Amino acid sequence: MAAATAYKVGKLIDGTGGPVIDNGVVVIEDGRIVSAGPETDVAIPNGAEIVEEPALTAMPGMMALHLHIGQFNSLTFRNYRVSQWEITPELQQLYMLFHAQLCFERGFTTLRDEGLMSTRGLMTEHTVAVRDSIDLGIFPGPRLIVAAFTVGTGSHLDLIMPRAALRNPKATADGPDEMRKLARENLLKGADWLKTCASGGGGTDKESPHVRNHTQEELDAVCDEAHAQHTYCSIHCFTPQAQEMALKAGADTIEHMVFHSEEMLEKIVGSGTPVCPTLLHRTDHAIEVRSRTGTPQFTLDKMKRIQPFCYETFQAMHKAGVKIFMGTDMGPEPDMGTNALELEVYVQLGMTPMEAILTATKNAAEAVHLGDELGTLEAGKKADMLLVNGNPAEDIKVLQPRENIMAVMKDGKIFVDRRKGHEKDVINVEYKSWALADG
Ligand SMILES: [Zn+2]
Repeated sequence: MAAATAYKVGKLIDGTGGPVIDNGVVVIEDGRIVSAGPETDVAIPNGAEIVEEPALTAMPGMMALHLHIGQFNSLTFRNYRVSQWEITPELQQLYMLFHAQLCFERGFTTLRDEGLMSTRGLMTEHTVAVRDSIDLGIFPGPRLIVAAFTVGTGSHLDLIMPRAALRNPKATADGPDEMRKLARENLLKGADWLKTCASGGGGTDKESPHVRNHTQEELDAVCDEAHAQHTYCSIHCFTPQAQEMALKAGADTIEHMVFHSEEMLEKIVGSGTPVCPTLLHRTDHAIEVRSRTGTPQFTLDKMKRIQPFCYETFQAMHKAGVKIFMGTDMGPEPDMGTNALELEVYVQLGMTPMEAILTATKNAAEAVHLGDELGTLEAGKKADMLLVNGNPAEDIKVLQPRENIMAVMKDGKIFVDRRKGHEKDVINVEYKSWALADG
């Protein structure tokens, strides 16, 4: 990259949690931020190209850190049960790239994919290849962190596939030694993280919410393998019993929560383990989309039943000072790319808009150990930046319409540009002109 570029913007949200800066400047050179702050404090280097955007707000690229880009999204499929049977892993892999791009073009510059399996086996290599093709510059897209399923037979994540489906026996493992082997295989294939589950999921009910998915020894083995290879392990936990097991194993992140106890909240705060609440797919909106796309009524009823527990737990976590970072668990619903809806749920449940923004920027980067490189607009960090219409620190909904995301920059390069006189997108077809795969 040639000389520096100075973006002079009407408002600057630097992602550090400080107040919104009026008349801000962000100087970018060689893909990194050289300086950022109020116009009065930032020296613009000689020869820098100056871009004036007085009507726009600059903020860090957002990070959505729990989603499943290979899953059958309502934007690309009509009926998710039909599509589970009709699609090959090869086509699914192409949808992975497309789904990642749909998130990217709406301001999500980093995604953590939380894994998937198909009837033919785990999708680890497929997801890793999508990540690498983006990193190599073959396709435009977000940074992808790949967390690979490392789970047992009949566990929650195994049951994402229909019970009757023929499974690849290598997709799951049982007992600590087999779990270690599966963990090693996933890491050998290039996974950045492992993903396992301590308790059941959507089938959980209020009367007996805890369904143990793994023994403590199995969870210990998975986390130990991740850490031995300097990687990380995320653990799906619905119940306090599961959270206790995950903490004991040394989980790097806890996913979902759903139920809580005061005692476990205290332990989670004490351990500093970040939690990803994934509330968007608990909302009425998600339930409505699911009812349209073929989810059976008993599952919809269960989704509705656990909704209040998730909301209560989120409020208790926020009050207790748990490190919360953003993820949606998309998934089948709602439309891939509308991840910013999750932040509105956080605000409805008591966060300030700025706190919600931090869950998708600074806190998100720190939760996945990328805080030195990403998450804020500060000197030295990678230049992942958005230019948006409006002020999301005042109204979090500003981040939802794609028309408001005026530019998406990753590593100092603009990939999506909707500003007047510019026209750049990462989607190769007109938005929503594609056919539904099972239409
Ligand atoms: Zn998930």
